[in-house]
Amino acid sequence: MQLLDNYSLEKLNSFKIDVKARKFVTIKSNEEIIRLQEKGMFGKDRHLILGGGSNLLFTSDYDGTVVHMDTRGMEVTHSDDDYVYLRVMAGEEWDDVVGYCVERGWGGLENLSLIPGRAGSSPIQNIGAYGAELSDHFHSLEVLDKNTGKLREMSHEECSFSYRESVFKHKEKDRYIILSVTFRLDKVPRVCTDYLALSDELEDMCVSSPSISDVRKAVISIRRRKLPDPDFLGNAGSFFKNPVISRKRFIKLREEFPGIKFFEEAGGVKIAAGWLIEKAGWKGRRLGKAGVHRHQALVLVNHGGATGSEVLRLAEDIRASILDVFGIELQTEVNII
Ligand SMILES: Cc1cc2nc3c(=O)[nH]c(=O)nc-3n(C[C@H](O)[C@H](O)[C@H](O)COP(=O)(O)OP(=O)(O)OC[C@H]3O[C@@H](n4cnc5c(N)ncnc54)[C@H](O)[C@@H]3O)c2cc1C
Repeated sequence: MQLLDNYSLEKLNSFKIDVKARKFVTIKSNEEIIRLQEKGMFGKDRHLILGGGSNLLFTSDYDGTVVHMDTRGMEVTHSDDDYVYLRVMAGEEWDDVVGYCVERGWGGLENLSLIPGRAGSSPIQNIGAYGAELSDHFHSLEVLDKNTGKLREMSHEECSFSYRESVFKHKEKDRYIILSVTFRLDKVPRVCTDYLALSDELEDMCVSSPSISDVRKAVISIRRRKLPDPDFLGNAGSFFKNPVISRKRFIKLREEFPGIKFFEEAGGVKIAAGWLIEKAGWKGRRLGKAGVHRHQALVLVNHGGATGSEVLRLAEDIRASILDVFGIELQTEVNII
């Protein structure tokens, strides 16, 4: 374990923002992170735990230590008649985990295929896509509690998952380092193909009774077609969350904007933020080297050489415009550093 100075983070964030960390360390085992804790690293110095860097926007050089979680390994801890319990180390690539499960016929994660990032970050915003969320097949996770220096396990309930949310983003923000995540996977998979784009894709593939492998293929195909690849166009996926508003407010809004795109939710109505941004005229627009993707208005992009502040300024202009046109306040999904 080596502490490096002035380390470039350009290749370690999917926006490809060219910034440096004052100090940088790669973690290859839980023992290494415990050693850092014992040395007092998480008490005094400013620090950032980094996974795949696909849900952050660096707005300047990082004046502290970036701790890159790169611990690897997956093991079945136990199984019963219905489920396999798979423990995955934090540094595993998320999509490798999904592929591993699908290859073995264990169901539950296939709708989340090709989401960038590492397994350890996946519970933080309860990643979701194509009608599924991580919390649907999450069992528990292991953390290092920076306050007490102790390791402990946290249950599903303790994580307080909701739409792109968990306890790690609010109540216990920055308290824990996630070391491993355990998933509860179906031995007899039940595919979930309710999401319209997914069922359409399966129909185009001429698949009438899809397996989890078909679902994975369909999701990968849609994502490759619709989302910009960060290796070619820097981005962090959806920049904003889809806002959830009350039914009463929605009815009024729909009178004014009859074409509004929405999804029914238990606690209200979820509005497609991409539709709002597009309708307000932002799709494809540029501000310096930052821009709004020309096909996906929810995705902000780095056209090459953009600074984090440029991207942030664009995001702030969009937020102000959506508030002005629709009276809705957008929340960012991406972590601003
Ligand atoms: C092209 C593209 C498509 C995307 N599509 C989706 C999608 O469909 N659905 C979706 O939900 N998300 C999507 N995302 C967002 C992103 O992939 C997820 O949020 C992912 O889980 C982030 O993982 P990461 O390892 O890159 O996290 P990072 O960006 O490295 O970190 C995110 C946050 O988690 C913290 N963190 C990271 N690891 C740990 C750890 N081990 N312990 C404690 N804190 C930690 C970081 O400090 C930071 O605050 C997309 C991103 C891109 C670029």
